[in-house]
Amino acid sequence: MRFVVIGGGPAGVRAASTAARLGAHVTLVERDVIGGGANLWDCVPSKAMIATGGLVSRVERAARLGLAPLSPSVDLEALAHRVRDIEHRLSSSMTQQLESQGVRILRGTGRLNGPHEVEVELLPGMEAEEAESPAAFGPPLAGVPVAGQRDNAGRVLELDADAVLFATGSMPRIPAWADVDGETVLSTRHAYPPPVIPEHLVVVGSGVTGVEFVHMFRSLGSEVSLIVSRQQVLPQKDPEVAAALEADFLERGVALLKGARATGIEKRDKSVAVLCDDCRVVEGSHVLLCIGSVPASGGLGLERAGVEASSQGHVPVNHHCQTNVPHIYAAGDLSGRLQLASVAAVQGHKVAEHVMGLHTREHRHLDYDKAASAIFTEPEIADVGLAEAEAFALGRKIRVTKVPYAASSRALIDGDARGFVKLVSDPATGVVLGGSIVGAHAAELVSVIALAVTANLRVIDLAESLFVHPSLSEALAEAAE
Ligand SMILES: Cc1cc2nc3c(=O)[nH]c(=O)nc-3n(C[C@H](O)[C@H](O)[C@H](O)COP(=O)(O)OP(=O)(O)OC[C@H]3O[C@@H](n4cnc5c(N)ncnc54)[C@H](O)[C@@H]3O)c2cc1C
Repeated sequence: MRFVVIGGGPAGVRAASTAARLGAHVTLVERDVIGGGANLWDCVPSKAMIATGGLVSRVERAARLGLAPLSPSVDLEALAHRVRDIEHRLSSSMTQQLESQGVRILRGTGRLNGPHEVEVELLPGMEAEEAESPAAFGPPLAGVPVAGQRDNAGRVLELDADAVLFATGSMPRIPAWADVDGETVLSTRHAYPPPVIPEHLVVVGSGVTGVEFVHMFRSLGSEVSLIVSRQQVLPQKDPEVAAALEADFLERGVALLKGARATGIEKRDKSVAVLCDDCRVVEGSHVLLCIGSVPASGGLGLERAGVEASSQGHVPVNHHCQTNVPHIYAAGDLSGRLQLASVAAVQGHKVAEHVMGLHTREHRHLDYDKAASAIFTEPEIADVGLAEAEAFALGRKIRVTKVPYAASSRALIDGDARGFVKLVSDPATGVVLGGSIVGAHAAELVSVIALAVTANLRVIDLAESLFVHPSLSEALAEAAE
């Protein structure tokens, strides 16, 4: 099986790795870094900066734990170094692992040239001879799909493929009214770290990315204003969860401008102003746009194989991540499903299994409704499965139990008792249907509920689990009683 993967983010890396382990001849084409946008622009740098910012705000609150007040300052250069160092380490270890599995990595831009042909424009510095040299990519790979065609410049390879995966991810959405210059008007790709810590940052967009940036920059010392187009931040989330976050923002002095939709940006002498549709004008030293992403589907040559894309540019797929052309797959952000690195990686795994024919064995389809997700704010937020508000909207009978962090001895010991655990279950069977956690370590704790939801465990299974004391997990058992 000659399998070509285009895009080396979570979806592409996992697909390449699994397929190689299952015996495929895999070529992975990546034009930037192995690890993808997740490593370079999104999950990893944002969480690395939030870890630093979070520590600053914890230290500032250390008086609660009996310490004299402390006020740490941020070393932007050291922070930038730390972010790039983590990215580099992760990328190197993924590259090494793939190479040790026999995956051939080509640095360049891939596109379809026909239903079974992929054309790779190699990056400068990687000539075709080098790309074909086994020495450059670990052990020789018998039967690796290189037909060896080159263009006149000698920098284009043609690969024959039995199956192709597109895992090219997405890019920040930049509206026509925004002139992003990377200096005072930033996209999420200019923030790791920014040129300076903004004196006053105006964040446009109050979805997951927007609120994480609010938390990050407020912790690093910026004054922050958040433009919220609806009446609640995190419009897709349980209102009680969103309210807990809003309360924290207000307590930390974040200005929330609700019901305002940004329609323009004006660069002024010493400031930059966001103009809103309700005539409000919000001025700051910097503006950061967090208004979603667009799929990276341009220039992939999809039309050369008859692969269909939606009007937004996503490539629709079935539950095996096959496009309308059965041997061509799409996964990750490009597929327009849940835009999470975790989901992208599992999709990649499923694609590899399908390519290698393993779907004929017992094969469970990916259930996107059971994906856990987290928001790395303070307090942290995480949820999985059915939410209370969603069940209410569906008219579905549920049982909801809620335990405040303030009732947890571990939360009190740690000096941070903000938040709650909410569990949603089926009143007839006791099966756990979902849950939300607001509070310290929510992203870790939610895994227990995710496991319960995936394995159809009942509340009694959680209630009778012998968790550590004192631990935050006890709140889960208590919510299950
Ligand atoms: C600010 C931010 C924070 C986020 N934080 C989280 C988080 O904490 N947790 C989480 O689960 N998700 C998070 N996400 C979402 C997550 O980053 C994406 O869902 C995930 O990266 C998608 O993975 P992917 O494999 O589809 O694509 P990507 O990670 O975007 O990788 C795609 C790769 O394809 C390459 N590529 C594109 N076109 C070509 C081509 N023609 N040829 C060769 N290579 C190509 C690109 O260079 C890139 O490396 C965050 C997103 C943002 C914007």
